[in-house]
Amino acid sequence: MVEKTRNMEVREKVKQLFTEYLTKRKHRKTPERYAILDMIYSLTGHFNIESLYTMMEETAKFRVSRATLYNTLILLLDAHLVVKHQFGTVSQYEKCFDQVTHHHMICTQCGKVTEFQNAQLQADIESAKLTRFKQTHYSLYVYGLCSKCQWKQNMKLNSLKRSKDKLARSGDSKGMKAINKKKTEINIIKG
Ligand SMILES: [Zn+2]
Ligand SMILES: [Zn+2]
Repeated sequence: MVEKTRNMEVREKVKQLFTEYLTKRKHRKTPERYAILDMIYSLTGHFNIESLYTMMEETAKFRVSRATLYNTLILLLDAHLVVKHQFGTVSQYEKCFDQVTHHHMICTQCGKVTEFQNAQLQADIESAKLTRFKQTHYSLYVYGLCSKCQWKQNMKLNSLKRSKDKLARSGDSKGMKAINKKKTEINIIKG
């Protein structure tokens, strides 16, 4: 319940901030823009244009065009109410006002993004002495393999090992070469 009240407060506050921003920049205060902002602040986690488009239609029951979504996101980014992430090749967005600092782990194989918190890491970055530079905020992305992809890779390696043992027993040198090549490829991905 406390969480819910808190969220309502944040939603009210960002509405106010957005109004100030739109007024200052002489942009129109359309109901679409406010509906998009409110949808974003009722979400947890990341979203992209497509998922936001679907949620606007299905959850908020508010029909907006992709162009309006895109333009509003540009305004929200400029107003520092939303941040954009580049996770590998995909762009994702996230609300950022009054949010707990968190970091991201990105799986280079399947693209899965997981958030994590690490107080020590955060304190180290925030207290880092930077020459002639005033830190305002930062993003930290850690790349690697998620547990599912590690598991898949181990399964692949194990099955390769089994085929190799079988080939070694039968004395097939051509087959062995092909298997070794595959194994090297997997190890390269594994880093
Ligand atoms: Zn993965
Ligand atoms: Zn995040």
